[in-house]
Amino acid sequence: MDINEAKNNFRDIISKLNAFNHAAGVIYLDALTAAPSDTAEGRGKTLGILSRYMYDLSTGEPTRETVKYLLENTDKLDERLIRELKEFDRENEYMRSIPAEEYVEFTVLLNEADAVWHKAKEQNNFASFCPYLEKIFDTNRKFANYYKPGEDAYDVLLDRYERGMNKETLDKFFRSLRERIVPLIKKISQAPPIDDSFLHEEYPIYKQREFSDYLMKVMGIDRTHCGIAETEHPFTTNFNRKDVRITTHYHLNDFTRSMYSVIHEGGHATYELNCGEQYDGTAISGGNSMSIHESQSRFYENIVGRSREFIEYIYPEICRIFPDQTAGHSAEDFYRAINKSEPSLIRIYADELTYPLHIMVRYEIEKAVISGQAKVEDLPDLWAEKMKEYLGVTVPDDTRGVLQDSHWSGGSVGYFPSYALGSAYGAQMLQAMKKDIDFTAAVKEGNLAPIVGWLTDKLYRHC
Ligand code: ZN
Repeated sequence: MDINEAKNNFRDIISKLNAFNHAAGVIYLDALTAAPSDTAEGRGKTLGILSRYMYDLSTGEPTRETVKYLLENTDKLDERLIRELKEFDRENEYMRSIPAEEYVEFTVLLNEADAVWHKAKEQNNFASFCPYLEKIFDTNRKFANYYKPGEDAYDVLLDRYERGMNKETLDKFFRSLRERIVPLIKKISQAPPIDDSFLHEEYPIYKQREFSDYLMKVMGIDRTHCGIAETEHPFTTNFNRKDVRITTHYHLNDFTRSMYSVIHEGGHATYELNCGEQYDGTAISGGNSMSIHESQSRFYENIVGRSREFIEYIYPEICRIFPDQTAGHSAEDFYRAINKSEPSLIRIYADELTYPLHIMVRYEIEKAVISGQAKVEDLPDLWAEKMKEYLGVTVPDDTRGVLQDSHWSGGSVGYFPSYALGSAYGAQMLQAMKKDIDFTAAVKEGNLAPIVGWLTDKLYRHC
């Protein structure tokens, strides 16, 4: 093998893996948006076969030889390719540590678990999802041990989402958040309540769809490269930097839920759509760590989307689309209503202030289950206990409790802290951004281009 041959081999492997990922991603998107409820079985078989091909292609001898050869000859390679090889090798080391059968089995399990979770959430039936959740936690622990034997399994999982992150750092981070947030929440609870009842009138779904289109336009999202669909739990997925999809969930009596989901997922999409073109189709394409990704979604959702200037800019359009519901209410009323801080049950609809406490509940539960201190079957009670302790709310059922998020059914353990870290990163980015551009003026004019431009220059284009 000479250097050019090795480089070509590597490009070929990455192209093939990207194609498999693309196919699996479309199947996954279809499962969550359009596929009828009882279709998981056939999809599971297909995903099992695809994941086996991906596993073999990634970990097989020809790939390992190619990567090894290139890493031994880095003096002949450019910096970008070296970084790509190192990232690929790191991911590969993880994959290789897992036996092929178990890797495929987990993919198939997740496909099934997702279908079971949807039904369990709908029917408030934790018992039906419990055996799947047990397997998901057990598998995560087992894979972490395969990958880094002897290391703390939860630390290994955290590091997969945010490199270098561990319990020690997060414990400190959450402690300092708690110390400041909890007294503030108490203080707010003693203030006169804010009336947000007009946000809970009926907002027809077809009009909410029209409003989503408007929001994406204000955010500068190119609709020829970014679609929107409807799912139980909103998310973003990207196939490449020219094909990004976001989803939302409409609630008839609570239209700002979807509004902030669209802005949140729109933040993820903005990142993906503005990633460096030179990285497209490489092993390092797409956004950086999950916390950096969430820093963008949370930045648009809270820092831009909940600002007075943004609300003042979009409020005339809200009034145009929903004249009856907003009659007699000013932009200031709307601004105050969407910034109302109040302990609540659902994470994704929580206000900016109480949100990190929702993350803390999940973080502590994951930590306890992975270390063996808590059993999965006890999670509904543990969840209710922690929600009472941190937020003072009573969890009425598992649908609005332990079953609310799709992360665990999707196999992700260790992901949740990314949201709280992302919120903190976003706040720091704002401080840096304000030194270079007039953030407030840009939002006031409804022209987010300078903000997107700054973030593209400092963050997005670097991947
Ligand atoms: Zn997000």
